[in-house]
Amino acid sequence: MRKYYSLKDIKNDIREGIIDCAQLVDHYLKNIKDKAYLNAFLEVYEDEARQQALLVDEKLRTGKAGKLAGMVIGIKDVLCYKDHSLQCSSRILNNFKSQFTATAVQRLIDEDVIIIGRINCDEFAMGSSNENSAFGPVKNEIDPERVPGGSSGGSAVAVQAGLCLAALGTDTGGSVRQPAAFCGIIGLKPTYSRISRYGLTAYASSFDTIGILTTDVYDNALLLELMAGKDEYDSSVSRNPVPEYSNKLEFKDKAKIAYIKETLEDPRIDKGIKEKIKNVLDFLKSEGHNVEAIEYPHLDFVLPTYYILTTAEASSNLSRYDGVRYGYRSPNTMDLQSMYKKSRSEGFGEEVQRRILLGTFILSASYYDAYYTKAQKVRRIIRDKTLEILEKYDFIALPTTPTTAFKIGEVKKPLDMYFEDLLTVQASVAGIPAVSIPVGRDKKNLPIGFQLMGGYFEEANLLAFSKYILENYN
Ligand code: GLN
Repeated sequence: MRKYYSLKDIKNDIREGIIDCAQLVDHYLKNIKDKAYLNAFLEVYEDEARQQALLVDEKLRTGKAGKLAGMVIGIKDVLCYKDHSLQCSSRILNNFKSQFTATAVQRLIDEDVIIIGRINCDEFAMGSSNENSAFGPVKNEIDPERVPGGSSGGSAVAVQAGLCLAALGTDTGGSVRQPAAFCGIIGLKPTYSRISRYGLTAYASSFDTIGILTTDVYDNALLLELMAGKDEYDSSVSRNPVPEYSNKLEFKDKAKIAYIKETLEDPRIDKGIKEKIKNVLDFLKSEGHNVEAIEYPHLDFVLPTYYILTTAEASSNLSRYDGVRYGYRSPNTMDLQSMYKKSRSEGFGEEVQRRILLGTFILSASYYDAYYTKAQKVRRIIRDKTLEILEKYDFIALPTTPTTAFKIGEVKKPLDMYFEDLLTVQASVAGIPAVSIPVGRDKKNLPIGFQLMGGYFEEANLLAFSKYILENYN
C-alpha cells in the first residue's frame, strides 16, 4: 500500500474500492512494527483498531460514516482515553487507567476516527527533544541518531514515518510546532481555550493547548474544527462559534506580514535557518504581499517569563501525584513522609523534579513577588506588545526553532535545552495561535520550519495562508 499524506486521498481510494479501513489499519500496524526502532508508540491498540476498522467499513457501506471515516490517528500519552492506560511517559503513573475520555478525543471518535495507539512524549510534556521519556527517546526517521523534537516528538514521528495519518499532541510552549519543524510536517497550536482541556493532563494550565500534527493542511483544519468549541466540562474553554476551518482554506488577499528583525539577526540562530526564512519572506514579497521588519525588544524576556510561570504552575499541578491515590508508590517506605518523598523521587524523572523544585521555589512566600508576580506582569506586557503588532499585521513570521534536529544526547545542559524554545514561547505566553510548516531542508538535509503567529481565533487565516505558502513556495 502506498504512503498516504491526506485524508482526501484515502477517502478517494476507499470510494474507488482500492482500499478499505481494515487494510489501512493493517498497513499502519505493519509500519509500526517495521519501524519499532523509532520508539514512537508506547502502546498499540492492535485488536481494537482492527475492530473499529471493520465497524467503520460497515458504516461506509451503509452511508452512515462520520467525517473522519478513514482517518487513523495516534494520541499523545497525556490525553485521557477511557479504560486505556495513561502514563504521561512517566513511571509515576504506572498502572494508571483513564476513567473518562478527553472531550477532544471523544469528538473525533464520534466522527469515526480510528485510534491506533498511545504515543511516546517527554515526561509530563516537559522537554524539547523527547529524551525525557521514562520509556526511552523517540528517534527522528530522517536520521535516527537525531531527536524528533519534543515534547510531542512521538506524535511528530508517527506522522512523519507514516505510522498513522495524523496525531494529537499538546503545545504548552512549542511542543507541537517544534517537533513538527524537526520532522518536516505541519504542527498547529490553536488559540489558548479554543479546544477543551478536559482530559488533557495539566502541565501549565494557563498555557496548555491540544495541538494537531499532520502532513496536510486540510486534515489539520478538519481536526481542529471537530475538536474545538464549548464544553460543559471545561469552564475555561471559549464559547466563540467554531468556523468551518476546512472550508476556509483559500487565501486570496494580499497579506500583511511582520517579521521580527531580531530573529533573523540573532547569531544564536542557525545560519541555514535564517537564510531559508529570509528566502520565504522574499518569495512572499515578490508575490505582492506586504512584508515588513519590526522590532520586538521583548524577545529576550519571553523565555524566562515562560519558564517561571510554567514551572510554578507545574509544581502545583503535579502535587497530585503523591503515591496515595493512584500510580506509583515506593515499596521502601516506613511512614507517610517517606512514602511521599520516595514515591515522588522514584516516580518522577530528573527534568520533572527540576521543574517542581524550581516552581516550588518561585511560589514560596519570600520569592513569590520577586518571580511569580513579576513574571505575570511581564506576561501581560509581552501579550499586549504582541497584540499591538497583530493589529497592524495579519501575521508575525519567524523561524520555528533556533536549530534543526540535533543529535540524541547532544544538548546536555537544561538551559541549552530551554533555549530551543526561544521562538515558540511567544505565542504561548500571549495565548495566540501559531503554526509551523515545512519549507525545505538545510545543508545536512534536516527539515526547517517556518512559523506564523496570528491574532486570537485567527486559525482560519493562519491555515489558509499556510496552505498558500505550501502550494506556492518551491
Ligand atoms: N519545551 C517546552 C518545555 O519544556 C515546551 C513544552 C510543551 O510545549 N509541552 O516546557
